[in-house]
Amino acid sequence: MTYQNYSLKQLQQIDAAHHLHPFTDHKELREIGSRIITRADGPFIYDSEGTEILDGMAGLWCVNVGYGRNELADAAYRQMKELPYYNSFFKCSTPTPVLLSRRLAEIAPKGVSQVFYGSSGSEANDTALRLVRHYWALMGKPEKNRIISRKNAYHGSTVAGTSLGGMDAMHKQLGGAVPNIVHVMMPYAYELALPGESDHDFGLRAAKAVEDAIVEAGQENVAAFIGEPIMGAGGVKIPPASYWPEVQRICRKYDVLLMLDEVITGYGRTGEWFAADYYGIQPDTITTAKALTSGYQPLSALLVGERVAATLVEKGGEFYHGYTYSGHPVACAVALANLDIIAREGLVERVKTDTGPYFAKALQERIAGHDLVGEVRSVGLMGAIEIVKDKATKERFLPAGSAAVTVRDHAIANNMMLRATGDTMILSPPLIWTRDTIDMACERIAKALDLAK
Ligand code: PLP
Repeated sequence: MTYQNYSLKQLQQIDAAHHLHPFTDHKELREIGSRIITRADGPFIYDSEGTEILDGMAGLWCVNVGYGRNELADAAYRQMKELPYYNSFFKCSTPTPVLLSRRLAEIAPKGVSQVFYGSSGSEANDTALRLVRHYWALMGKPEKNRIISRKNAYHGSTVAGTSLGGMDAMHKQLGGAVPNIVHVMMPYAYELALPGESDHDFGLRAAKAVEDAIVEAGQENVAAFIGEPIMGAGGVKIPPASYWPEVQRICRKYDVLLMLDEVITGYGRTGEWFAADYYGIQPDTITTAKALTSGYQPLSALLVGERVAATLVEKGGEFYHGYTYSGHPVACAVALANLDIIAREGLVERVKTDTGPYFAKALQERIAGHDLVGEVRSVGLMGAIEIVKDKATKERFLPAGSAAVTVRDHAIANNMMLRATGDTMILSPPLIWTRDTIDMACERIAKALDLAK
C-alpha cells in the first residue's frame, strides 16, 4: 500500500503515534500535526494537499541541484542493480567511492588529497575529531588534543558533534560533553562589534580570541581549531574578510590544525566550490555532506589535507574508526552524477557572477528597508534577515517571543519555505534559482514581514 491510500489526517495521526522527529517539541507537534510533503520538482515542494511551496532552504541546505533530477535517480538505480552494497573495510573497495575520491581531490582546495566517507555531517565531524587527535598521537604528542571551537557553532547532533558545537540548549541536554573542547566568541559583527569598531578590526579581534585560547591552554596542548566558514544554523553569520586569513595565520604560528566544517558551504553555495576558496585559506580538514549528493542520498566526505593524510600513511598502524556505510556505492554513484550536474550547468559560476550578486541586491533593496528588519546579509545563495523591534537600537523581540517565527509562519502560509533561528530568518535556496525565483521569494518574504508587523 502506498501513501496515496491515506488521507492527510490519517498520515498525521500515524506520524504522531509512531514518529519522533528531530529538533521538535512533540507536545506542540501533536497539537498542530505535521505538514506532510509528498513530492517536489525544480525549486518547489508540494504538500499532501497539492500546495506548491517555494523552497527557500533547499530542504535543509542540501538540495543544491533542485528536485526531480532523473539523472540522479537513474544513477542510484543502475548502481543498486549492479552492486547495492559492499564495504570499504578490510582492504576492499568498490568503484564509485574510488572515482568520487579522485573527483573530490580535483575540486577541493589546494593541498587536500584524501577522503573519508560517512553518511552524515555529524559522523564526518566525529571522524574529523578522532582523526586530528590520532594525528597528534602519531606525531608523538598525544597531549596535544584540545579543540577550539566557537560559541553558537553547529557541528551536528551526535555526542561529538554536539560537543564540538557551541549551542547552549544542546549542551544542556548532553549530560557531559566530549572533554577538552573549548568555545570562543563568534565573528558576528552585528551584535558583537564595539561602537565605532570597523568590520576589519572586529574580524581581527574575533580571531584574537582563538589566539588567546591557544596561549591560555599552551600550544603544546591544542590540536586544532574548528569552524564553519559561515555559521549556518547559528544564523548565517558571515565573518569580516579579515577573520579567516588571520585565524589561519594564528593556527600556523602555533602549529594548530585548521578544521573547516563546510557541511553547508561546500559544493557551490558561496559561489566557489568550497568556502575555503572564497576566503582564500587552506585548511587541514574539510567536513562536507549535504550538497555532495544534493540530499538525494545520505553521504558525507571528510576531505583530508596532505599533512594529516601523509602522516597517516607514513606512520601506519590501524585507525580504529569507520562506518558500515563508509563509501556506500549507491550514495557515491549519486554524488558523482550530482557533481556532474553542478559542473555541466555551471551552477557554481552562476551563483558567483549572477544569482549571488542579484540575491544580495534584492535583499538590500526590497527587504532591508522594512521596519522589522535590522540587517540583511548574504554570501552567494546563503542569506539572513535579522528581525528587530527597533532598527536603531537593534532591540529584539526575544526573549519574549521570536518575531522571526511569526514571519516564517506567515511566509509558509504564503507558500514560501524559510527558516527561523532565534530572531533571524535564514535563506539557503537551491542553486538553480534564477533572478525570477529570487524576485518571487522577495515578494513573498516582504508580504510575510508586512503581515507580522
Ligand atoms: N555541520 C554543519 C555546519 C551543519 O550545518 C550540519 C547540519 O546541518 C552538520 C554539521 C550535521 O550534519 P548532519 O545533520 O548531516 O549530521
